[in-house]
Amino acid sequence: MSAPRCAFNPPYDIHLLRGQSIDLSNLLEIDGTDAPEYTDAHASIKYSFQTSFNASTNLKITATLGNPTSRKPTYLIKLDAAAPADAKFQITSFLVYAIVTDTSDNSTSQAAIRIHVHKTIQKVWMTPDPITVYQGMAGARAAVYALFDDKVVAEIGDIYVGDNEEIVKYTITNKVQIKWKCTATPALINDSGRITPGNRFGNHVLGITVKYGSQTLTATGTVQLSDALSASQTTIKAELITSGKCPGFDKLNEVPNILFLAEGFTNSTAFGQLLDNYVSDLVSKKISSPFNLLKGSINYWKVFVPSREDGLTYRSVLEVLETEPNRMVGLRAKVATKPASADASTWTAENLLYFVGVPVRNDATVGNTALRLRWENTTKLTAAQLDVLFGPTSGLVASWRSDAECRLPDAKDTAFGISVNDYTAVEQDGQYNLINFDKRRVQRDFLDGFMGSLKDTDNNLIGPVFVMDTPAGNRGKDFDNIIFLLVDGRGRAQNATGYMFSAVNFDSTITLMGTLADDRVSEVAISVPATIPLRKKGTITHELLHSFGLGDEYGEEPDDDAYKGKIITDPLVVNWPFTTYKDPAYYADQYSNVQPRKDFERPKTGGGAGTELDAYKIKWRYHRIQKCSLVTAVTTSGNDVLLTVKNPKAGFKVGESVFFRKRRVNRYQLRVFDKDMRVVADIVNPATLPTAFTKYYVKVKTIDAANNKLTIKSDFGTNQTTIELMTGQTSFFRVGQRLDIREKRVTDPIFTILRTPATTAGQPDTQTFLLSPELTIKSIAGNQVTVQPVGAATFPAGLSTLNPNEEMLLYAAVPVRDNQGTNQYKYAELIARPILDYLNDNPFPLNANTTHEEIIDTDDIQNSSLPPKYIPCCSRRKKEIIGLYSGGMSYFGGVYHPSAQCMMHGYYLSPSDTKDKKEQLIELCAVCRYTFINLIDPTKFEDFDADYLTRKIYPDNLS
Ligand SMILES: [Zn+2]
Ligand SMILES: [Zn+2]
Repeated sequence: MSAPRCAFNPPYDIHLLRGQSIDLSNLLEIDGTDAPEYTDAHASIKYSFQTSFNASTNLKITATLGNPTSRKPTYLIKLDAAAPADAKFQITSFLVYAIVTDTSDNSTSQAAIRIHVHKTIQKVWMTPDPITVYQGMAGARAAVYALFDDKVVAEIGDIYVGDNEEIVKYTITNKVQIKWKCTATPALINDSGRITPGNRFGNHVLGITVKYGSQTLTATGTVQLSDALSASQTTIKAELITSGKCPGFDKLNEVPNILFLAEGFTNSTAFGQLLDNYVSDLVSKKISSPFNLLKGSINYWKVFVPSREDGLTYRSVLEVLETEPNRMVGLRAKVATKPASADASTWTAENLLYFVGVPVRNDATVGNTALRLRWENTTKLTAAQLDVLFGPTSGLVASWRSDAECRLPDAKDTAFGISVNDYTAVEQDGQYNLINFDKRRVQRDFLDGFMGSLKDTDNNLIGPVFVMDTPAGNRGKDFDNIIFLLVDGRGRAQNATGYMFSAVNFDSTITLMGTLADDRVSEVAISVPATIPLRKKGTITHELLHSFGLGDEYGEEPDDDAYKGKIITDPLVVNWPFTTYKDPAYYADQYSNVQPRKDFERPKTGGGAGTELDAYKIKWRYHRIQKCSLVTAVTTSGNDVLLTVKNPKAGFKVGESVFFRKRRVNRYQLRVFDKDMRVVADIVNPATLPTAFTKYYVKVKTIDAANNKLTIKSDFGTNQTTIELMTGQTSFFRVGQRLDIREKRVTDPIFTILRTPATTAGQPDTQTFLLSPELTIKSIAGNQVTVQPVGAATFPAGLSTLNPNEEMLLYAAVPVRDNQGTNQYKYAELIARPILDYLNDNPFPLNANTTHEEIIDTDDIQNSSLPPKYIPCCSRRKKEIIGLYSGGMSYFGGVYHPSAQCMMHGYYLSPSDTKDKKEQLIELCAVCRYTFINLIDPTKFEDFDADYLTRKIYPDNLS
């Protein structure tokens, strides 16, 4: 056993003024659970806190452990109103460490948070200024940044929006008072800064008054009211991207519609050209098939919403270097790291930060003598360590001083106020650089008004298909296919419910306007490239495909190169969180292209302990399809099933063998996620929850395993409610665990899997696919096809009815070549029979090492041990052959995907890695292409199959 991981949540820097206090025990979490509750449930766990300084009355800071003998103490940090007069006792920032101990073996874990100590506020300003606020918005706000006496700039105020739109509530006593007003239009803004634009237009000057103690500061800012995103606007139109060979408005309700919105662009022509070029590449197979085969089956739309400024809001303090006149380069500030040794001569700059905190601008000119004296009195550095640090050979102090120049760039006034949530923190939070909406600016639900009335350039109403609203209301079928195309290249893209973000740049350089004499800076306008770089086209496409039933086929890139190639049981990597997939198998049910080991194990063929992979249970044993139609109605009569087909031209014939299966699209599911946004469980009851539970984090209060129920409490207010989960899923939770509930659009993969979790640990779940047994066509009349099961086969329950958001597919499978089918392999599948048989005889992934062990395989194109005799004649394309490879869903072992190369695994090849020395994208594998066809237009399966065979990657010649 080792002590569970702990973290401050949120981990962001806290800025305190002299006279303020905060209890940090409210922020501590152990294993994702509020620390007191975790401790209550685990008798051997206790925690405590420490500061990076030795307390003394000289410092005028107290850190008080409340109830110190308890396993769960409080920890109050209090700054006396007056700072010490003597510079050697003045701390500008310090660290607080939380230490969790497992008393059963005395193992510990640690986390740190930084507290800034300020004396006064010197200046305040609104940001962005001006701020664009749209008519009809509720709750818009600007941020207030403050310059403190130590030249540090930080946001002040009560409302702090963190990762995943989480609102952070700090309980600081003796708060700074911020009051807003608009003298000319008093109704525009209330005291606390909440803007109510109504139907007003134009520029309005706001006054801000900030009071702390005897200090009063004022500032003004401007609100620009706009109707650009209001329901009644008529100037912004959706334009069909003609290079996409789109079927257009006439097919709006039949085909998928994908909408690109401009964020951070000031130039509509540049935005339009980028998209014309990208979509043209997409449909002409320059990125990946099957977009070319689906030409005419997808509408691509672009909507230019002008931003007042180019760029994106970036919320991290940056270390700056003056590079040219009036320009500075901003670099991500260093993150403190606990050193492995007490010997200061081995330390890095990050290790020094762990003891002394970040330098502030005033520190740049503090001499060695004064600095040493200060560190002697305000840190736990020993005399020996100080001797090393201030000795002749260490450059650490000089380097620390040179990092003193930091700036927080102003927010950008972009169309949607999207930001990179890269807040400054002493330790990294898991999703530290997510791109996200800022709750105070535009929110996705606000866009529904705009979407609801959005017209195309021919004045046809197209927007309603993109309305998000609720499933009970008027949710549009394409509400999730909205892509915010960002001019900025930073931050981690994410594909969330109702939207995704993608950048057109991948330049991570941040250039700020101004010189080292400026306290307040902003980023220079980002230049828009002429075309989206190939690699970004790959990212956009990869992210887009996540909305259509495809999962990641790769493992997380290790920080340490030494992990690469290691066997997954190697002591170096065995405890790394991304080595082996250990989550429940059903997390992968939404994907067609990844499968956890738990779903296809069998006892070892030669006997012995453990299990091996059962190739016959590979998920992507999908039938190759020669003809297909959607089914619009289904009725049963005795043994007969009567199907109404949408496409009578599919050419089905009496006597032909066919199958039918469900295709569930645009299904909405209330899902429980943990803090890392991993799927944890599905809620079966109730169907909807009040927003207090879906827009804020919730906490588990009680668990009723017998009835599959959890009682949860919202972080917002005192609301509690009970939710019922799928059978067996309450076992994934702990009392006190903080969770996120979101309604997800779920697109089922090829097989809709109905799963009953195993009641005994280690046993596989019971699974049913919504796929019919083999059928024969008995008669055809117009669009009515009557089918009968071959033999005494029974239908899975749920296959004879069509529920909302469900569709049915009728198809004829391709026969096995030369009638060489077997009972185990009756029709041709995406995986060729020789390969399946080979995997049955050799039950390990094809990228395993020579002794068949799974490894940390980080190659974009993986190795394959498939023997040459399975590779079709003349084919150099061994790595595209569908088989079994380990890796997927961020893990390297215990989860598998179909081929050695695929856009969902690694998509970009730099020129040095390609034969013709040109950069290149890797196409989707056959399984991924097939999945996309299935969701977009199953009548194109025939075209897919023809394309599959021309690639010479299907070894079905058994002779
Ligand atoms: Zn991905
Ligand atoms: Zn794939």
